[in-house]
Amino acid sequence: MPKTSPALNAVLRGKLCSGCGLCAGVAEGAVALELAPPGFLRPRQTAPLTARQESIIAGSCPGLTVARWDREPEVEIDPAWGPYRRLLTGHATDDAVRFVGSSGGMLTALCQFALGNGLVDAVVTVLAGDGDTPLANPVQVIDDPAALLAAAGSRYGPSSPLATVARLLDDGRRFLFVGKPCDVSALRQLGRFDARVAERFPFALSFFCGGVPSLTGSERVIEAMGLAPADVGAFRYRGNGWPGKARAETRDGRSAEMDYETCWGGYLSKHVQFRCKICPDAVGGAADIACADAWFGGETGYPQFEDRDGRSLVMVRTEAGASLLDAALAQGVVECERTGIADIDLMQPSQKRRKSLVAARTAALAATLKPRPRFRGVAVRKAARGAPVRDQLRNFLGTTWRIVKGRQ
Ligand SMILES: Cc1cc2nc3c(=O)[nH]c(=O)nc-3n(C[C@H](O)[C@H](O)[C@H](O)COP(=O)(O)OP(=O)(O)OC[C@H]3O[C@@H](n4cnc5c(N)ncnc54)[C@H](O)[C@@H]3O)c2cc1C
Ligand code: SF4
Ligand code: SF4
Repeated sequence: MPKTSPALNAVLRGKLCSGCGLCAGVAEGAVALELAPPGFLRPRQTAPLTARQESIIAGSCPGLTVARWDREPEVEIDPAWGPYRRLLTGHATDDAVRFVGSSGGMLTALCQFALGNGLVDAVVTVLAGDGDTPLANPVQVIDDPAALLAAAGSRYGPSSPLATVARLLDDGRRFLFVGKPCDVSALRQLGRFDARVAERFPFALSFFCGGVPSLTGSERVIEAMGLAPADVGAFRYRGNGWPGKARAETRDGRSAEMDYETCWGGYLSKHVQFRCKICPDAVGGAADIACADAWFGGETGYPQFEDRDGRSLVMVRTEAGASLLDAALAQGVVECERTGIADIDLMQPSQKRRKSLVAARTAALAATLKPRPRFRGVAVRKAARGAPVRDQLRNFLGTTWRIVKGRQ
């Protein structure tokens, strides 16, 4: 047995792993990523780590530390929505990209633009699995803009886009990275240890993230559609319209669908990993651009999920993000219009509420002497002012109870 890494030990003991893959990516074979019950990607150490690998993981793993938002001091910072230079809604102008994309196809259009115009040599993101592993989300390095269409759409299952990061840094090419907010945080933190990160990854894009459900969650969706998970050869969580439907296809030609609200609200959201419930930056605050669903609010103030032409919220956070978006706008591959912070509150009410409760939930970790991620500069305390004391208390007590019962 190798000497256990203190960093990996703390993150696994605290159930703080988000599955980003960075530890495996930097450990040169000493850490493997494996599916662990109930269906999350988790690291398993197979050999000793060097002191440098240990300190990289301790300083970059999003279960232990989170990237600050204020990397570019002149930007405005909202405690719920993070740093921003420009707030927009928009969509890809290519109808196929807009249709296949999760919301407005913005992320895919920006990736295609950056790749097609030589701003980067390849895009690193995850694809939907197929064949025997339709629920897997393998990391891919894509150097053909047309091939990016296959990566479009949100996959509400485990993904580890940093699992090959050291190889990519050695590769010599420049990449655009797309990943969950915690993946981008880990990449930024890695940049504190390896100066090549900034040069080889000139753009990091992300999206708002309601959390990663386990594969058990996806299997429950398939079963509720009346199909057996073992028979399924292709699965989409959404997209093909906005929000589109979850769709499963069996290898013998049967198919079934489920609407977005039932799929996420009725099934997947009940299987989200613990780290997501205390996420201090689920809005991609460390990314150059973060996209999200620009939901239209109904009379109740709650977003409406009827199918429409896709529309993405686009938060431009850094100078690099602004230059990418401006160039894409100038070439007409995306269309955008301005929006404001108050509009985002209406588009994304549950994200705002979630952020306001992070302080209470992490206080429960402190009270039960559990490991917790270090986060400074992501406005957790400021955001907490937005939640009534009653809600804070209920979340503190609820999280404490779950930790004590081992149900987190
Ligand atoms: C787990 C998860 C939770 C989300 N929660 C929210 C939420 O709470 N609120 C909200 O507004 N939006 C959420 N989204 C994002 C939203 O669904 C859209 O991705 C966003 O609106 C951008 O849409 P788009 O059409 O511009 O992206 P697209 O053009 O469809 O591009 C999506 C990009 O994201 C990448 N991607 C998809 N799934 C994953 C994954 N699991 N891991 C890493 N990369 C992935 C794709 O490879 C692709 O590059 C979530 C997405 C995921 C994957
Ligand atoms: S969060 Fe990422 S770096 Fe941390 S243990 Fe999990 S996979 Fe490894
Ligand atoms: S909610 Fe946070 S920790 Fe969970 S997957 Fe999303 S960004 Fe990562």
